[in-house]
Amino acid sequence: MSSRIELDHVRQTFWVRGDDDKQLREFVALDDLSLAIGEGEFLTVVGPSGCGKSTVLDLIAGLAHPSGGRLTVDGVAVTGPGRDRSVVFQQYTLLPWRTAQGNVEFALEAAGVKGRGERREQARHYLALVGLAEFANRYPHELSGGMKQRVAIARSLSYEPQVLLMDEPFGALDAQTRERLQEELLGIWRRTGTTVVFITHDIDEAVFLGQRVAVMSARPGRIKEVIDVDLDREAAGETDLRATPAFAAYRHHIWTLLREQHGAPVQRSLEEVRTVA
Ligand code: ADP
Ligand code: MG
Repeated sequence: MSSRIELDHVRQTFWVRGDDDKQLREFVALDDLSLAIGEGEFLTVVGPSGCGKSTVLDLIAGLAHPSGGRLTVDGVAVTGPGRDRSVVFQQYTLLPWRTAQGNVEFALEAAGVKGRGERREQARHYLALVGLAEFANRYPHELSGGMKQRVAIARSLSYEPQVLLMDEPFGALDAQTRERLQEELLGIWRRTGTTVVFITHDIDEAVFLGQRVAVMSARPGRIKEVIDVDLDREAAGETDLRATPAFAAYRHHIWTLLREQHGAPVQRSLEEVRTVA
């Protein structure tokens, strides 16, 4: 498996206000973070809130630039967002005045797909892929939370990015919708062969989806361990994969890794609370 994305000793700092609220000081969000993501791989990243997961994703997306280290996609340093990478955020970010179909077409237009007919076809195809063929003409307010998130996924897939970056995309959904979308996403990934980097704070979700799970540690954020998940998801068929001993062993291992970090009481500093708020 060749590397598509490489983070090499990446460091990210932010300027934040100190306790006196006057002096700016440097806050180290990520330090010495190295990670290689393979072509066509489904990698999940799990870690506690505030450990720097979104920061990692923003860097790969090109929405922020690392303060130190090197970040490359296909060997080329990332300098900004690109059509090769698309992001699905936790909140539904649909245009309320456009239908599901219109939202996907809009993204295609922004991505430079010139022909109207082509945009229409492509949008239809990807809405069908996420199971929304019948709902193409509905407006966001006429769709459930899960449906809106599926439109967002269809929109991200529609311009066929080589890399799909997902930041806790199912975090706001109920458990059943979440599980259905997880299965759908795995199906889409198998069919399209796109590289997926999926951020979550949910251990089960990380194990269920990831071929590998990168476990992050906090303060400063770095990769603590990368675990190969060897579960036969297709053989599992109708059985509950999450109830198998193999699944439980992975879950427990990751739980232990995350728990270790709380050996000492976690001190949330004021500036951290402030910057999160
Ligand atoms: P996660 O997604 O794992 O919850 P984030 O990547 O959002 O964590 O944030 C990591 C740390 O960096 C947090 O302590 C957060 O407060 C801080 N941080 C993130 N973005 C900024 C910013 N733009 N300015 C200052 N601090 C930030
Ligand atoms: Mg986050």
